[in-house]
Amino acid sequence: MLDGITDGAEGVFDMALTNGLVAIVVHCWPDKAGTAGRMLSASQLLNVIENKGRRADGGVVRVLHDPAGPEFTEWPFDLGDGPSPNFTEVAADVLRDALDATQEVRHARALDHEAARVITDEHLNALEALDDHPALRSLLFVTIDRYEQRVDDAGEAEISRAQAYLEAIGEAEEERRAGLDYVALYAESDRKGMVLAEVEECPVCGHTSFVATGWEGQLGDLGIGHCVICSYQRTEAVADNEATLLRIQWAAERND
Ligand SMILES: [Zn+2]
Repeated sequence: MLDGITDGAEGVFDMALTNGLVAIVVHCWPDKAGTAGRMLSASQLLNVIENKGRRADGGVVRVLHDPAGPEFTEWPFDLGDGPSPNFTEVAADVLRDALDATQEVRHARALDHEAARVITDEHLNALEALDDHPALRSLLFVTIDRYEQRVDDAGEAEISRAQAYLEAIGEAEEERRAGLDYVALYAESDRKGMVLAEVEECPVCGHTSFVATGWEGQLGDLGIGHCVICSYQRTEAVADNEATLLRIQWAAERND
C-alpha cells in the first residue's frame, strides 16, 4: 500500500501512473492485465502497451480509442482543429525513466542519502497525457484529489497543534515573543553569501518568526523549519508534498 505522505513525490507519482496504466490495459486488453489477486506492475503494464499498441517515434506508443477506426478522425465539418486523434499517447520511454527515478529516490531515502534524481516536467507531462484515454477520464484527478486530501489532513493537524500551543502561552507571552528580532537572532549566511537560515512569515501566527533552514528541492521555495513563536513545524515531507501537489496541479491545469 502506497502512502502519499511518507513516500512523498515518488509515491503519488507511482500511484497515479499505475492506476492510469491499469485502467488503459483493462479497458483495451482485459486478458493481459493479470488476475484479480495479482495485478501487473507499472513496468509490466508498459510492456503490454508496447506489445499491443502502435509504435510511433521517440519511444511513444499510440493506444487507439476505437480499435476499428483510423488513427485520426476526419470530421465532416471543419472546426479549425484539423483531424482529431483517435488515440492516447503513452510515452513509454519517458515513463520508464520516471519509474527508474522514483526507485532511485526511494533507495536513497532508505539509505538516508541525498536523492539523485527528481521527477521532471517531462515525466509529469507523460503522466498527464494518459488522462486522454476514455477509460481514464479524470481517474488521475481522483488520485490527485485523494492525495491532496491526505496532505491537507496532515498539514491541518500540525496547524491545529500550533494554534493550540499559541493559545496555551496566551496573548501576553505571544506579544513578548513577537517583540524580539528573529531575523537578527536566526538569519544566517556563510562567507560566500550562501543562505543557511532565513526568517520568514509564519503561516500560523503571522509573525516574522518562521526559521527556515532548508527548502524543498522541487520549487526551492517552501521553507523547512520551525516557528520560534508558535512552534509550527513544516517538515521536509510536508514541504515536498506541498510542492509536488502544486506541480501536479499546474500540469493538470495547463491547457497546451
Ligand atoms: Zn508561528
